[in-house]
Parts: sequence; structure tokens; C-alpha cells
Amino acid sequence: MELYSGHINKLIEELAALPGIGNKSAQRLAFHLINMPQDKVNRLANTIVEAKANVRYCKECYTLTDKDICPVCANKNRNHKMIMVVENTRDLTAYEKTGRYEGVYHVLHGAISPMLGIGPGDIKLKELVERLQGDVEEVIIATNSSLEGETTAMYISKMIKPTGIKVTRIASGVPVGGDLEYIDEVTLLRALEGRVEL
Ligand code: ZN
Repeated sequence: MELYSGHINKLIEELAALPGIGNKSAQRLAFHLINMPQDKVNRLANTIVEAKANVRYCKECYTLTDKDICPVCANKNRNHKMIMVVENTRDLTAYEKTGRYEGVYHVLHGAISPMLGIGPGDIKLKELVERLQGDVEEVIIATNSSLEGETTAMYISKMIKPTGIKVTRIASGVPVGGDLEYIDEVTLLRALEGRVEL
């Protein structure tokens, strides 16, 4: 049933396909966009297209960045022998906001999930192994405390153990299933400082 115009229906459909946007929100956003001035709509559309075209993976840590090497990896004052493994760029940002972590990162872009059919080959694990050929003293596993995050942590720990590199896991106390980005900075720092060797 065509309640609105075909164009509005299509817009609602596209918006509703985004994570966290239900049908009602999609409708609200669609009508908001239609009522926005033309130049603002153009700016938004261009921003999306340009971001998609220009954002890439950092060649070292695989976070999303505008440059070949992200600002963290490019910073000589950071401790490049300490690598914190996170699931995504949002988690990296959460730790950066604390301003207290001095090492570098490795972004997996996901976690192992047998249920969803996501295996070790589907996230940036091979790339992590390659980085470990260099001078690395400690790998801090900071994946989420969800089932997937724990599975991934266990996998990485088993993978790194034979190399003799120190492997630690951030302390629990981070709520189970909680996305790292929603956790406050104090909790994040406590989790980092209380990390335990695996
Ligand atoms: Zn980087």
C-alpha cells in the first residue's frame, strides 16, 4: 500500500535498514529530511559520500582514518611495543578519551561468533599476527565481555602464547555484554589498570 510517495517510501526503507533505527524513527527522519532546506540536504548527502570515499584502514592498526597511518600510530611518543586489541574503532575512541593509555591499538573489526558464522578469518587476526613479528612486549586484549568478545579473547590468547609475548586481558567489572563505548572513562581505566595476565 502506497501511503506516501514512492520516493518517501524508499527513503524510509533505506533509513530503517540502518542499525538502531526502527520503522517509526525512519519515518520521522524521512519527513525531517524532506522538510530540510535543499542546501542542508545536499551537504548531508555529500558528507556521507565523501566519508565513504575517503575513510580507509590505518596500515598499521586498521582503525578507520583519513590518512595512510592514523594519528595514534604516527605518534612517536606512544609506546609501540604495547598493543591493545579492540573490536572496533568506537572502542579505540573510548580508550583514547580517557587520555591515559600510552600504547597503540589493533582494531579487529568484529569478533568471532560461531552463531553468526564469523570465524577467525573474517576479522583482522592475520594482520595482528603479522604485527607481532615486530618488537612487541605486551598484547592487551580489550574485546567486549560478551560471549563473542570472550571467545575472541581466548582465541587470541592461545594464538599468542607460543610466541612468548605477554598477553593480558582487561579486568572484568565491565558489564557483561556491555559495549565498551558506553562505559564511562573511570570504569575503562580501572579495567585497564586491573588487567590480568593470561
Ligand atoms: Zn593506526
